[in-house]
Amino acid sequence: MSQKCDGKPDEAGFFGNYGGQYVPDQLRTRLDELGSAFFEAINDAAFNRELQYLESHYAGRPSPVFYCRNLSGAIGGAQIWLKREDLNHLGAHKINNTLGQCLLAKRMGATRVVAETGAGQHGVATAASAALMGLECTIFMGEVDMRRQHLNVIRMEMLGARVVGAKSGQATLKEAVDEALDLWVSDPKMFYVLGSAVGPHPYPLMVRHFQSVIGKEARQQMLEETGRLPSACLACVGGGSNAIGIFAGFMDDPEVRLIGVEPGGRGNSYGEHAASLCLGTPGIMHGFKSYMVKDDHGEPGEVYSISAGLDYPSVGPEHAQLKDAGRAQYVSINDKEALDAFFLLSRHEGILPALESSHAVAEAIKMAPGMPKGDILLVNLSGRGDKDVEQVAELVRKGFVEAKKPGCK
Ligand SMILES: *Cc1c(COP(=O)(O)O)cnc(C)c1O
Repeated sequence: MSQKCDGKPDEAGFFGNYGGQYVPDQLRTRLDELGSAFFEAINDAAFNRELQYLESHYAGRPSPVFYCRNLSGAIGGAQIWLKREDLNHLGAHKINNTLGQCLLAKRMGATRVVAETGAGQHGVATAASAALMGLECTIFMGEVDMRRQHLNVIRMEMLGARVVGAKSGQATLKEAVDEALDLWVSDPKMFYVLGSAVGPHPYPLMVRHFQSVIGKEARQQMLEETGRLPSACLACVGGGSNAIGIFAGFMDDPEVRLIGVEPGGRGNSYGEHAASLCLGTPGIMHGFKSYMVKDDHGEPGEVYSISAGLDYPSVGPEHAQLKDAGRAQYVSINDKEALDAFFLLSRHEGILPALESSHAVAEAIKMAPGMPKGDILLVNLSGRGDKDVEQVAELVRKGFVEAKKPGCK
């Protein structure tokens, strides 16, 4: 089957062989309504104007691109540039999507929103967007995650959201999604704000649309600042929303390599990583078909990563298509490499990257020395690392990573 990777799924929501809607009829009706409302909205100039206003005046867009002169000089080879999504309101790319979906919720007449959250970042962005737009907000979070990410629970509650613990199964992200979907289906005034480029159609397409502002801005900014396009564009991949957002801007530039970086965790054996594209196989979960990490019974498997935002056992269907078509390459970076990159960026540039984003930085640091000086690597810095400093300090205390003394790079 020939695959054109143009970011558009077919009528049934398939990107090549992946995506679709593997859901009960009742849910399909809601998804179809959502799809129609979405297409209407993005063809309405008033909707786009309002979203652009919020992106600029509330979220702080456009986010700049930044040349890491010190880091690039220290490691040699290609120039490393960052797209600074860490500078957005709330410190990550998540707000691009929650503003778009909450605006759509209001347009559809919803008065309540529900969302799932793993590490809590999407929950916080949803709670803020809901507060801004006067929507009641419920967030489902695995009880295990609520303990691990306690500060984000406090943030969500302060923003006016109700945080409900998902108790079943492993009590993490997968269970939170299941419970959020159940609540959505049972309530016609509810809108489900999904946090990554995953789930049944039209979510992967919708999330891609709202995150593609990253790639659109980045392409123009790089041309303005450097007069050319980067050799490669890199992003970490959990569900794949920040990656598809920046890739979208360069999809039609075949000379720009697209590189997605998955969490390699502690190694390639089952349960030690969350590298769905590198180490998984095609399967169906959460209503869509894509690569997944499976257990012995073919069910969503156990995953692990040092960064709580990347440990999802599947990945957005468009990434699966891009992998099979060879338009994008997917690699993995382990915990140790991500931590080293965290310190390198902090010490050389004064930027604390999120542990998620540190995976993409690490791959750029690996690639740069083997490339000519004039080449450019553009890394999507999906978020800031302030949320991770306690965890990193703990890992230093345990001797997992060497303590860096003041003044030492
Ligand atoms: C949530 C999150 C991710 C992972 O999600 P994607 O959908 O793969 O982008 C990456 N970085 C940060 C900072 C996040 O908060």
